[in-house]
Amino acid sequence: MDYKIAVIPGDGIGPEIVAEAKKVLDKIGVIYGHSFEYQELLMGGCSIDAYGVPLTDETLEAAKASDSVLLGAVGGDVGKSDWYKLPPDKRPEAGLLKIRKGLELYANIRPAVLFDELSGACPLKEEITEGGFDFIVMRELTGGLYFGERKTIEENGVLKAIDTLTYDENEIRRIAKWGFEVAMKRNKKVCSVDKANVLDSSRLWRKIVKEVSGEYPEVELTDMLVDNCAMQIVRDPKQFDVILTENMFGDILSDEASMVTGSIGMLPSASLGAAKLGLYEPSHGSAPDIAGQDKANPIATVLSAAMMLRYSFDLEKEADAIEAAVKQVLKEGYRTVDIMDKGKTLTGTKQMGDLIVKYLA
Ligand code: NAD
Repeated sequence: MDYKIAVIPGDGIGPEIVAEAKKVLDKIGVIYGHSFEYQELLMGGCSIDAYGVPLTDETLEAAKASDSVLLGAVGGDVGKSDWYKLPPDKRPEAGLLKIRKGLELYANIRPAVLFDELSGACPLKEEITEGGFDFIVMRELTGGLYFGERKTIEENGVLKAIDTLTYDENEIRRIAKWGFEVAMKRNKKVCSVDKANVLDSSRLWRKIVKEVSGEYPEVELTDMLVDNCAMQIVRDPKQFDVILTENMFGDILSDEASMVTGSIGMLPSASLGAAKLGLYEPSHGSAPDIAGQDKANPIATVLSAAMMLRYSFDLEKEADAIEAAVKQVLKEGYRTVDIMDKGKTLTGTKQMGDLIVKYLA
């Protein structure tokens, strides 16, 4: 099959890590008989330099016309770069908001995987993490408290701030479907997280998720309150497969889940919408402090490309092959500087990409 991928390297380490992900995709193409055609697009600071805005409408249209989008990272040194003298809606990160909105992406997936080989980086006790863990936080991205009406008023001389949390059943149903679809590709367990003992929006969430679960009889559904979930992630992360939750809870839980893996350069992410087209990017930023030095860990971006194969193109065994190659490289003791440990072999960005390609064979 032929796939048209919009590639947005972005700023900082973005171009370096995206180049390695392309190398890996190209090798997958050779092994499995696919052709990946890339269209490079500008977004972030590099787009501000070229066009005066972080994302042009033409670039957004080109991304929409692709089969999927692979992004490095955008942004510069917030304290030093001139990009941050611009008004907030003209800064590099405004491009991210515009593209997520423009592509109508409402589901965000952040895997929290602790590779056995990197268990030393995990802040949890060994007896909790032995054998590693592998779960996903699926977060609703366009509704809830962050998008509700808000205002600050004065009542009897006292300032009062009001934020509103709304979800309608359609918003819940579409994200729930993604949760179950993703679980079908994994260990077939969904833990739906809410605050149904207090919030009406959570009670509706629970009802609709239960309804949707009827369409997926193979998937086991459990419900958990968000406060308990925050504890369970550090107490027993191995119990989870897919955590399905609303926007604000997902924002907090996905950061907690990233933290327990202990290695920012390893974490991919995906944002999905109604169509197969998704936006795949590492969870970290553009790391301007190490840009251009061949130090960045490309694994989060390579694993993001694997997610693209799995979720946008349904290329399951190709995605598995990339993940297995990454595991093998780690097993052989190769490490970029962010995950370096005693007795391991330090590699740069390019060498890490080459090694993953080598172990794909
Ligand atoms: P960051 O994630 O870029 O970096 C935090 C620390 O982790 C730095 O020390 C960096 O060197 C290190 N690091 C990050 N990724 C790494 C990798 N792949 N390999 C090795 N080390 C890595 O976060 P920050 O410093 O807060 O932000 C830098 C810029 O990135 C800012 O402009 C910020 O707005 C932007 N940002 C962009 C995105 C995105 O594009 N989605 C996300 C977060 C931050």
